[in-house]
Amino acid sequence: MTTYGNMFQLLLERVSEDAGWVLQFVHDTRGARLAELEAELASARVTGTRRHLQDLEDLGLVACVDDVWATTWAGAGVSNWRTQLLFAEADQPVAEPREGENGHQPGPECREYRPALFSPGYCWCCRSRRDHASEVVKAARRLLKR
Ligand SMILES: [Zn+2]
Repeated sequence: MTTYGNMFQLLLERVSEDAGWVLQFVHDTRGARLAELEAELASARVTGTRRHLQDLEDLGLVACVDDVWATTWAGAGVSNWRTQLLFAEADQPVAEPREGENGHQPGPECREYRPALFSPGYCWCCRSRRDHASEVVKAARRLLKR
């Protein structure tokens, strides 16, 4: 079994399978009320939404403001990492996030394209593949546009 050293993996190991689905639903909705989440999750045969939300909140992955549940910065990262692992092909290396990246909000400058399987065509740094061309290639492109 491959081991991953990123912080989202460490957090994900503390999230039950059902709570992982709850986290993904919260992340996908970009903010939803409990009743909405319960209805969505019931169709996915996940029960105990309120309890899972509490567990996720204790880990600092979700927060509830004015009755609306949303992922925190770390929660978005754990949800994206979870999806990254779900979409990964067996025996294929899985690109990991770096410090300051959660795959949801633009991360620090990045020159190495690391495919985000949860967001095809984009890197963990939230930039598209073509935004990772080297500075030389970028300069050449600028010249060609003239
Ligand atoms: Zn990148």
